[in-house]
Amino acid sequence: MSTRLTLVLGDITRQDVDAVVNAANSSLLGGGGVDGAIHRRGGPDILAACRALRASHHGKGLPTGQAVATTAGLLPARHVIHTVGPRWSATEDRSELLASCYRESLKVAAGLDARTVAFPAISTGIYGWPLDDGARIAVETVRETASPTVEEVRFVVFDDRAHEAFARHLT
Ligand code: ADP
Repeated sequence: MSTRLTLVLGDITRQDVDAVVNAANSSLLGGGGVDGAIHRRGGPDILAACRALRASHHGKGLPTGQAVATTAGLLPARHVIHTVGPRWSATEDRSELLASCYRESLKVAAGLDARTVAFPAISTGIYGWPLDDGARIAVETVRETASPTVEEVRFVVFDDRAHEAFARHLT
């Protein structure tokens, strides 16, 4: 399946897609940015599902670069895929972990039979990753990752600067 990459300026919690990706933290118990918005708008079922994961498979939390799915609660999407981006480091190259977030989320999406997936610009908010580099890694990784089910990957960005960064790498 060749995946179409699209870009929209908007709120990830409003996307009518099979799966939205959450820029979560390893606790899976909520945070700011995208994570806060998803839990606020998605309602308590998402947090309940995350707590259940902490009580079973992910007792120590979700490691950086990995991904796991829950219900999307009240969101228009059917599933939320939680992935934990790396914090930006000026002294250590963590690019492979950021690429892994995109790859592992797409793998989880295929397991859910998802055809449409919306990604935020993982790690480029609270985790401090430079926007242009975060956009480059996002676009390159998704382009290199063939998926058996995903027809559209939609990058959903929150401001003009992020839109410009993604647009540069998508053309
Ligand atoms: P991280 O902790 O991985 O850096 P954040 O949620 O802080 O994640 O930010 C990731 C990116 O998502 C940032 O570029 C931020 O501007 C953007 N963002 C924040 N809220 C939303 C939202 N509701 N929809 C889409 N993008 C958002």
